[in-house]
Amino acid sequence: MTKIIKDRGIVLKKKRFRETSKLVTIFSENSGKLNLIAKGVRSLKSKASAVLEPVNLTEFVYYYKHTRDLQYISSAEFVNDYSRIKSDYDKLKYAFAVLDIVNLFSKEGEPNQVLFDMTKDFLDALNDKNLIESALFDYFLIKTSKISGYPVVSFNCPICNNELNLISYEFVFTKDSGVICHKCLWNKNNLIDLNEAEKKVFVDLTLDNLDTFIDRNLQILTKKILYSLIEFLKYHVEEFGRLKSIQMIET
Ligand SMILES: [Zn+2]
Repeated sequence: MTKIIKDRGIVLKKKRFRETSKLVTIFSENSGKLNLIAKGVRSLKSKASAVLEPVNLTEFVYYYKHTRDLQYISSAEFVNDYSRIKSDYDKLKYAFAVLDIVNLFSKEGEPNQVLFDMTKDFLDALNDKNLIESALFDYFLIKTSKISGYPVVSFNCPICNNELNLISYEFVFTKDSGVICHKCLWNKNNLIDLNEAEKKVFVDLTLDNLDTFIDRNLQILTKKILYSLIEFLKYHVEEFGRLKSIQMIET
């Protein structure tokens, strides 16, 4: 039996399929990752073709038949085309990195509301607010570490379990354990040295104080945090370091 399903989702990637069609990967709100065929959309008069491009948030309808591996899209409309992101190379670079991360952490047929909301929030903020792009990406990576099962920071030191005092900066950042209390630093090989200004940036991001990142002078500090977070995620999630878009950000 074929079901007709309506959902909304973020287009992660697309590729050509046969002569006239597209194979589109969408991270949907209700069904997780979906691989869908959009028939005949490669013709110039197809409106759905413009909708089914990476970064777009779309509301779409598809036919679901459990005996088929690939399902067919019947229609797709724009919810948001994020035009400001697409016209700015720096914004686009971070958007593609986020799409790669979502592709890595999402599973077919498994909805993930937390990942969906944080991805939509990231794209909305990148498009609409004048905050430093790398700060928004840092914020996304801190949340990514939580859903990956390796939180980079929590309320307690992961080694001695004492409460962490983030506000007084009495912590250190390590590649393997993330944020630990300064008493637990016995293995200096894994230490990523952050100065007080960089620690303040990290604490503001951890405590959701994003408004402060309108000040472009903070950009260099947010990049140091970005490299630290990437080091941490690469240590725990092997595939993370292999993402081309992450390698582009690192260079
Ligand atoms: Zn400790």
